[in-house]
Amino acid sequence: MNNIYGYTREKLEEYFLSIGEKKFKALQVFEWLYEKKNNEVDEWSNIRKEVREKIKSTFSFKCPKIVRKERDTLTRKYLFELCDCNYIEAVVMYHDYGISLCVSSQVGCNMGCQFCESGRLKKVRNLETFEMVSQILEIEKEIGERISSVVIMGIGEPLDNYSSVLSFIRIINDAKGLALGIRHITLSTSGIVPKIYDLMKENIQINLAVSLHAPNNEIRNKIMKVNQVYNISQLITAIKDYIAYTNRRVTIEYVMLKEINDSDECAIELANLLKGMNIYVNLIPYNETNHIDLSKSDANTIRKFCAILKNKGINVTIRKEFGSKISAACGQLRSKEVEK
Ligand code: SAH
Ligand code: SF4
Repeated sequence: MNNIYGYTREKLEEYFLSIGEKKFKALQVFEWLYEKKNNEVDEWSNIRKEVREKIKSTFSFKCPKIVRKERDTLTRKYLFELCDCNYIEAVVMYHDYGISLCVSSQVGCNMGCQFCESGRLKKVRNLETFEMVSQILEIEKEIGERISSVVIMGIGEPLDNYSSVLSFIRIINDAKGLALGIRHITLSTSGIVPKIYDLMKENIQINLAVSLHAPNNEIRNKIMKVNQVYNISQLITAIKDYIAYTNRRVTIEYVMLKEINDSDECAIELANLLKGMNIYVNLIPYNETNHIDLSKSDANTIRKFCAILKNKGINVTIRKEFGSKISAACGQLRSKEVEK
């Protein structure tokens, strides 16, 4: 049975038309599900009993449930069990400007980045749209507050699960869905170049973040397998085209790995690579994990790296460290559970 939380309003309209009903029923259903947060179909008083019965026999309403939580001051981390006993995680971060949620898009990841726990465990399957939507719904229920921004930066490569991720974005952005402003939604990719072009042509104003993590092919080939397929110059061209087409600034993510990509030369090379582009660089202190033999750069090294970029006119910030004590890095909580 198809899960109702995986339906965009458009798809639901098609469904109602197909059973000979008016398409505005989809809007009513969205209001029940996302505004009133009521999935007791029998209580949907503005929909006829006969139609309610059809809805009940056509759709599943079952959502993944939270099975473990970890917390520190500004972070809450939730482990979800899916109906096939797979695990995924989502992380809530409290900022001065609101509450953001980092959602997963796949169970594991096949991109195989050397530093990443999700990649170490490989992809089991894509998440379905409803499994992404319900990460938000369940967590809002759990914390009793509204999520104000969503980053698709949890487990998985979102552009390797393109159509489900796009439906997810449409549902959460829908004014009658979760009504999250499109500029409050960020998608992070390791750089699947053709999919960046597909995304560009969708004409949606989401924030795009690209995990660059190296200033040249030699280093990037070592730490990111995807670079052997789409190299830096192809990726940079795609980002430039994306910026020109969408008129949006792109975020460049750069995880700081000790003695791998954090030298002064790397900073200079990176600045030259990105010169003149409408981007901003987010330096990410590496979150160390037990199974991977890589270390985070020293705080001083990160500051110096940042200063070099700034001097060369690059917009740059150092990402605040969230939840390093509670295994908040991409895939760490899941990997603990899987290994148990
Ligand atoms: N697959 C997508 C999105 C998920 S990963 C991507 O790679 O962009 C989100 C971000 O977390 C990426 O920039 C990734 O490189 C980074 N990341 C992965 N493991 C990390 C770790 N242990 N510490 C810090 N950042 C990490
Ligand atoms: Fe996958 Fe992103 Fe992890 Fe790379 S960093 S393995 S693309 S989740």
